Amino acid sequence: MTDTPEPASGVKADLETLVSLAKRRGFVFPSAEIYGGFAAAYDYGPLGTQMRRNIRDLWWRAMVQERDDIVGIEAAIITNPDVWVASGHVSNFTDPLVECRECQGRFRADHLEDDLCPNCGRKNTMGPPRQFNMMLSTIVGPVSDDSGRAYMRPETAQGMFVNFDNVQTTTRKRLPFGIAQQGKSFRNEITVKQFIFRTREFEQMEMEYFCHPSESLDLHTYWKKERLRWHLSLGIRREHLRLRDHDAEELSHYSKATSDVEFHYPWGWGELEGIAHRGDFDLTQHAQHSGKKLTYLDPETNQHIVPHVVEPALGLDREMLTILFDAYDEDEIGGEKRVVLHLAPEVAPVTVAVLPLSKKDTLEPTAREVSSMLRKQYRVQYDDTQSIGRRYRRQDEIGTPLCVTVDFDSLEDRAVTIRERDTTEQIRVPIAGLMDAVRDRLEALRPAVPSLDEIEV
Ligand code: ATP
Repeated sequence: MTDTPEPASGVKADLETLVSLAKRRGFVFPSAEIYGGFAAAYDYGPLGTQMRRNIRDLWWRAMVQERDDIVGIEAAIITNPDVWVASGHVSNFTDPLVECRECQGRFRADHLEDDLCPNCGRKNTMGPPRQFNMMLSTIVGPVSDDSGRAYMRPETAQGMFVNFDNVQTTTRKRLPFGIAQQGKSFRNEITVKQFIFRTREFEQMEMEYFCHPSESLDLHTYWKKERLRWHLSLGIRREHLRLRDHDAEELSHYSKATSDVEFHYPWGWGELEGIAHRGDFDLTQHAQHSGKKLTYLDPETNQHIVPHVVEPALGLDREMLTILFDAYDEDEIGGEKRVVLHLAPEVAPVTVAVLPLSKKDTLEPTAREVSSMLRKQYRVQYDDTQSIGRRYRRQDEIGTPLCVTVDFDSLEDRAVTIRERDTTEQIRVPIAGLMDAVRDRLEALRPAVPSLDEIEV
């Protein structure tokens, strides 16, 4: 185990508090709630959808747009089933399933504590574990028998391996280079509690970094640091994160080294992102099963080699939950309790709220003018309902970094008030200088990110 700071100073929300906030404010709803929901399936509301889009874009920007050595693809979710035979998923993608003899509840054996049944609470009632395959399958085509059996991908990674040659020949990338992908994955998880931490349908953001075997271990270390840095850049606090190396028994059979970025959830440290050294396992398997050559011609030695792979693999839903936990806070402003999400400006679903002080028609034209000006660059919410105090609270609760208030003086002096979420400080700025003032305020709220050298692994 490396790099383990003291346990978190304390995430301020328990799961129930967060689930309730997420529902109340339109981040996450139980899926198909009017039909009673569906186990471990969730629908994202307007704020959740925007927040996910922000996180997804920030990942893409860091992993693809800002780099010369990584390109993106989008592979099919349902593809040739041979892919999953070659990758080992059909035979090995299993979790140990146990059944309680008393209540017939089924659980993941490695998730049980003290052999207690989480359902009926009895001890030592579990039957022997059996391996349960987590692939979700479907039938493709008009004949509903096993000949049409296909799988919903359980990870996005294999789409990158099977396209290795296509991407390499079309982009002419030299090692080391990466292929990145974002998209839905599906797993028939046995235990699904903890809200969007673990669901059967979820979105992944994965990158396969192909490299010369001799540099792979150094690159694994590099990606551990780089990925930790990215989570910090989204505002997650350093003391709530740690890097944990898998020990020998935990490693997958093909992995030379795996580390997890872990977060201190209310239920303990848990995996947020996995950073695996997959060796040459996947390319070798696909070359054997497809009969196609999946090698790289080293221009220096003129030899064909099978590149090794380092893979940072993250779940979008889990990242969002983690950020919400980390950002949640309760404090007191002027003797009144408030709930506030300290979201980084780039992550927050709403960047600026425009609030006319009163609902009177006289203020509306100026407030609308201000909001359309800001909308060109920022995610804006216009809100003219209820008292100004309640509107501030509402924006605090959804993590909006800045509120701009238009009052009756604004009509005379062409100036507005900016109120900052974290300090509740207010400053008066001319409308003509508002864009600059907002930009500077947001810049000041941007999380500080250490350099690679400052991160110890
Ligand atoms: P776990 O040990 O939590 O089951 P894993 O090690 O099987 O996770 P990976 O296969 O490494 O997970 O997947 C990479 C990332 O995808 C995880 O770190 C997590 O962020 C996300 N992820 C995996 N399974 C799920 C799921 N069922 N629901 C939501 N996110 C998931």
